[in-house]
Amino acid sequence: MATKRDYYEVLDIAKTATADEVKKSYRKMAVKYHPDKNQGNKEAEDKFKEATEAYEILSDANKRGNYDRFGHQGVHSDFADAYGRRGGFNASDIEDVFGGGGGFDDIFSSLFGFGSSKRGASRRKGADIRYDITLSLEEAAAGKKMDIDISKRDVCDTCSGSGAAPGSKPTTCTTCGGAGQVRRTQGFFSMTTTCPACHGSGTIISSPCNSCHGEGTISKAKKISVNIPKGIDDGTQLRVSGEGEAIGGGTAGDLYLFIHVKEHPYFVREGANLIIEVGINIAQAALADVIHIKTLDGKIVKLKIPAGTISGQMFRIKDAGINNIGHGSSMGDLYVIAKIDTPKSLTSEEKKLYTELKKLSADNNTPTPKKPKRNNW
Ligand SMILES: [Zn+2]
Ligand SMILES: [Zn+2]
Repeated sequence: MATKRDYYEVLDIAKTATADEVKKSYRKMAVKYHPDKNQGNKEAEDKFKEATEAYEILSDANKRGNYDRFGHQGVHSDFADAYGRRGGFNASDIEDVFGGGGGFDDIFSSLFGFGSSKRGASRRKGADIRYDITLSLEEAAAGKKMDIDISKRDVCDTCSGSGAAPGSKPTTCTTCGGAGQVRRTQGFFSMTTTCPACHGSGTIISSPCNSCHGEGTISKAKKISVNIPKGIDDGTQLRVSGEGEAIGGGTAGDLYLFIHVKEHPYFVREGANLIIEVGINIAQAALADVIHIKTLDGKIVKLKIPAGTISGQMFRIKDAGINNIGHGSSMGDLYVIAKIDTPKSLTSEEKKLYTELKKLSADNNTPTPKKPKRNNW
């Protein structure tokens, strides 16, 4: 996908737009660009997807907050999720926007509040969980398989999540007939609200499970294996689908891994490239030499310093950077800045040689001035 447009721009609303304005604007676009009404129109389809994606983020206070703070990177992992699957925005995310269905009817029922008998318990979703992971630059470059321990609401083993005591079953709520919602007619309008008897679950539990007191979920410690892709950058979020909080009679939320990468003592990262600085002496710079550079993964690489190297000259060691995430196995490069160290103390032998050198350049007491170049570093 090309670079993403700003979500506020996509929905044509201000950054300060209220939740209602977000919904209204999306409703307008969903109607205009919906694929059912624009069959075979690729542009409309893209517009619909783009608007739906923007709506998914901006209609969720949590995700909107992340987007405002971190931009697109704060809400999507475009390359792969923690299981190593190709990720980003997909059909199941679109379904989530509409609470599970995805059809045109469902869009209308969720956007316009028209009742639909399909709505109910199965649409409920547990809360997302945030888990922070701090990596060294070496770990971020190499990728990492790791187990993390989280404590969360998980499905109750005793009742398998039904909330009913073993041997009993939840019964269909008689107030809403299992829909989880009730329709009320006020004059010309028909309005749908959450069923007051079952609180939207669609079922009534007469003898609750002892382990979870009818909740269907209990607090559990869980070990989760995650696979951090190599080349991951600071500030990335990885989503582990379905590993958030479970909810009785609904689907579990997602687990979000917030990745932090520590500063390295001497490597600076610029995307997939790395930069370091090394000191060479004036003789090496004047006469040429081969120096040894230790790369981030500990390999020793030979680097040729040509005769006449100036201080600050940059050399490239190809493919010695970091995995260019999202671009297969392509690697960034390592840039080496050679700085000429001026000796602060000299042995008597060195002093003799430098004195000879100085005599040879005695005519340089009136150097020719030059306009300085702007240095990049
Ligand atoms: Zn239970
Ligand atoms: Zn009910």
